[in-house]
Amino acid sequence: MADKKQNRRNNNKNYDEDYNPRFRKQRKKVCIMCSDKNFELDYKNADQLKKFVNEKGKILPRRTTGACAKHQRDITTAVKRARHIAILPYTQN
Ligand SMILES: [Zn+2]
Repeated sequence: MADKKQNRRNNNKNYDEDYNPRFRKQRKKVCIMCSDKNFELDYKNADQLKKFVNEKGKILPRRTTGACAKHQRDITTAVKRARHIAILPYTQN
């Protein structure tokens, strides 16, 4: 009986939020385009778009760019347009 009680208490400790890695490093990112009104996304501006793609030429996810859903969509469209007119590469190797 006493052992059972002890085990349950120890198991509960594993589910404590302090020990769960999913709750670590929660910093709210602010969308750069929402915070900066003068920021204009241009599909002809390769230097600007390079910030939104990785070294392989892939579009970065929202958790990395920090953009909101609306602006991430704009980024995706801009990068795809830039690829089409050969400003950005489809792949890098
Ligand atoms: Zn935004």
